[in-house]
Amino acid sequence: MRYYSTKNSGQSFSFAEAVLSGLAPDGGLFVPQIIPCYRENVKNSLSSMSFLEIAFETIKPFVDGEITGPVLEELCTEAFSFGAPLVPVNPDLEKPFSEPVLMELFHGPTAAFKDFGARFMARTFSFLRRGEDRPIHILVATSGDTGGAVADGFFNIKGISVTILYPKGRVSELQEKQIAGLGGNISALAVEGSFDDCQALVKNAFTDKRLQEQLTLSSANSINISRLIPQTIYYSVIAGKAQSGCYDSDGEATPRANSVQYTDAKDNRQPSGNNRPVTFCVPSGNFGNLTAGLYALSMGAPIAGFIAATNINKTVPDYLESGEYKTRISQATISNAMDVGAPSNFERMASHWSYAQLRQMIQGVYVTDSETRQAIKNVHQDHGYYLDPHGAVGWSAVKKIKTAVSGNTAGTDKVIIAATAHPAKFSETVESITGPVPVPAAIENALGRTARSHTIPVDISALRDFLLNAG
Ligand SMILES: *Cc1c(COP(=O)(O)O)cnc(C)c1O
Repeated sequence: MRYYSTKNSGQSFSFAEAVLSGLAPDGGLFVPQIIPCYRENVKNSLSSMSFLEIAFETIKPFVDGEITGPVLEELCTEAFSFGAPLVPVNPDLEKPFSEPVLMELFHGPTAAFKDFGARFMARTFSFLRRGEDRPIHILVATSGDTGGAVADGFFNIKGISVTILYPKGRVSELQEKQIAGLGGNISALAVEGSFDDCQALVKNAFTDKRLQEQLTLSSANSINISRLIPQTIYYSVIAGKAQSGCYDSDGEATPRANSVQYTDAKDNRQPSGNNRPVTFCVPSGNFGNLTAGLYALSMGAPIAGFIAATNINKTVPDYLESGEYKTRISQATISNAMDVGAPSNFERMASHWSYAQLRQMIQGVYVTDSETRQAIKNVHQDHGYYLDPHGAVGWSAVKKIKTAVSGNTAGTDKVIIAATAHPAKFSETVESITGPVPVPAAIENALGRTARSHTIPVDISALRDFLLNAG
């Protein structure tokens, strides 16, 4: 597979080049030349294949010729040590899927869906750098949320050391422990400034002559194509299972006796009976998760379409409605991992699909903080299920659409909402509404760690000194 920049389709790059450089030389994002299709026998067996089998089949065409089958199998097995269960908030329903169902993406080590991408990216980096003498040094700026997933993903990965910069005093205790509690090859710098200052320092480091001479620096930011591709997997896994009308609470595939299988991709859009394809509602910020979902649809997974749910940072819903793309300054909300006014993956969406195509595949909805709180409250009161603020944006978005169209219409009756984080990750907000939230083992482990970080001022020479002495 060759990769192109979203800004200029002239020059092509290998998968390795796209992954190791992160951003294209012209400042664009890397996109694959084509979105591949699943082989017929794969498409027909999604409901009975395991998560790892689908992971392998999904990623293979994207790395063809550069990562061999056995290596890819190993990368997948190490990266995806957890699944994506499909869980009804109300298990007592007479008819499955008569209420929206949750795809829980928070069973990884940092309890958010970014674990899928970060863990695969880390292992891919390590493989692509094999045989190099010089260790690679990865610099990441985080506002708090992605730092933990990156730290965990790269922890103990050979030949790579990571330095994470975060704004001192502006991340939660849990976030700080996830970033700075691992040690080993992961270093944490508490910067006396804002997230923007952290980002500026990282940018400066990449143009710093002395650092360039002495270290091999790289970035591992959220726009790396090796983070996007693995997020496609769970859409195909879940779409395959849900199509056969079953929940799947362990996140692993078992053959479904009643599954009716499609024989042709064109059937994707022609639902029949209970075996109709599903609609995914994706709480979105930078739109990486949603773009990955669109890849799954294009590859042939039985998906009818998507609901893009945002908070009041509604750049994309507005675009879908008006056809005009206008970025804006982001506003703070309680679903803060989605506080994005200029979603970086929009460039990718627009490079693959026209406005008309995007409108056909995606319905945009935005949700306010008070609606988000109301959703957390209602779902907890009615079903005893704890939504996190991001999943709650998704829940609220679906309810809004259902009300608007009054009743079931094609595409909105079998709806799966991506629950992107465990509610205990946002316990301040959730507990103020529901009372104490059960804490999963992954978060309990992290809370038991001691954060060890160095504090530096917003000064490139302080960062340089740290990197040269530590690395
Ligand atoms: C990052 C994140 C999102 C947004 O995902 P995008 O791919 O940026 O759209 C939603 N929820 C949570 C919990 C996140 O961490």
